[in-house]
Amino acid sequence: MQFKTIIEPFRIKTVEPITMSTEQEREQFLTNAHYNPFLLKSEQVIIDLLTDSGTSAMSSNQWAGMMRGDESYAGARSWDRFEKEVHDLTGMPHILPTHQGRAAERILYSHIGGKGKYFISNTHFDTTRANIEYSGATAIDIPALEGKDYNSDFPFKGNMDVAKLEELIKQYGERHVAAVILTVTNNSGGGQPVSMQNAKEISKICKKHDILFVLDCCRIAENSYFIHEKEKEYKGVPFREIAQEMFSLADAAIMSAKKDALVNMGGFLALRSKSLSEACTQMLIITEGFTTYGGLSGRDMEAIAIGLQEVFEPDYLKYRIISTQYLGEKIRSKGVQIIYPVGGHAVYVDAKKLYDHMPVEHYPGQALVCELYRIGGIRTVEIGSVMFGTYDGHGELIAAPMELVRLAIPRRVYTQSHIDYVIEVFDEINRTKKNVKGLRITKEPKFLRHFTSHFERL
Ligand SMILES: *Cc1c(COP(=O)(O)O)cnc(C)c1O
Repeated sequence: MQFKTIIEPFRIKTVEPITMSTEQEREQFLTNAHYNPFLLKSEQVIIDLLTDSGTSAMSSNQWAGMMRGDESYAGARSWDRFEKEVHDLTGMPHILPTHQGRAAERILYSHIGGKGKYFISNTHFDTTRANIEYSGATAIDIPALEGKDYNSDFPFKGNMDVAKLEELIKQYGERHVAAVILTVTNNSGGGQPVSMQNAKEISKICKKHDILFVLDCCRIAENSYFIHEKEKEYKGVPFREIAQEMFSLADAAIMSAKKDALVNMGGFLALRSKSLSEACTQMLIITEGFTTYGGLSGRDMEAIAIGLQEVFEPDYLKYRIISTQYLGEKIRSKGVQIIYPVGGHAVYVDAKKLYDHMPVEHYPGQALVCELYRIGGIRTVEIGSVMFGTYDGHGELIAAPMELVRLAIPRRVYTQSHIDYVIEVFDEINRTKKNVKGLRITKEPKFLRHFTSHFERL
């Protein structure tokens, strides 16, 4: 008998209380936070869908591993476990442990980047782009065209446009392209998956032109699930083997372990080339730590090694993807426009469509973020003109292409009833949408303004 109800494939051993609040209290909290939920305290939040990064719940096995952590400065047992696990998964001989993904990015991209260099990606994640641009190089996004239509059923909207890749390499000259970076799943592109076919084509092009092919593999397990489900040749192939095959196509991999390694902090850089690894190891020692711990404690390395096993367990992965889809499909069935099909780690709501009476200058995405918090105590993030908007010479807003709100799902943290609650809050969002007014920015920093800006209601 196949039952319809998806249950969490775990029992709960430790609980963390959620502080409940009333709408009236939240109205006050929101005012105090200047209508920017990044400035809320976590205890003022009922369901925190701000990010899936570093917010996973660890398993009893991982906690046991934490106690086993060997904190020796050099040659710790925990390093051996970590190195063996990452080596087995990526197939790459040189592993550099870092405190999180962006540290691995800084080490690799500051070495191979610099003025006059180009990096090409399906979509650079914001820290990836920042590290590349900081080195003086240029970062170019070439997402596949199929990704632009966010209602079609096309299964791999995270793909890179390979025809465009060939074109750009010809245009810049292969010697000037420092690396091609494939982000799986495509985080900034809606958490959409990338097909193995796409990775194979990119790998072939990179080999032909002798360009470094880097996998930004934060969500490689989630991506493998989609390949298993939607790419015919991979039906029945174990998830981990799918991931291993994708790594085999690349020359390097960067991972933020805060995602699919099911831990709260950590990362690594994996490399095939010995000479590149020697150069990067210099930087690792100077800026992170000695080669056998980098930016990590022994206990962190234990937890990552275990998490990288657990994340490929079929029951976990299925639950993970299906529960994200469940949230997306239910919201969609209420007539709310989302990016479709639903990606692996988050649901993206189109706020411009929801508040179609509101001009983009009034930040409909931020307005929805505030409404979700006010009505339901749900914390989310705007991915629209607050995050990406700029100003022209006359101080007029140049809006982002889309006004989205991301509901990111922490791994193994919330149960079905939490998610059902979020779905119910959308009924009220729908019922009251015509009366919602936008916001005005009253204070903003120069960079990454979504983190610290202040707003007021119009
Ligand atoms: C989170 C993330 C990073 C950066 O990793 P941190 O651990 O946050 O430094 C890089 N790329 C992608 C795709 C990410 O999602």
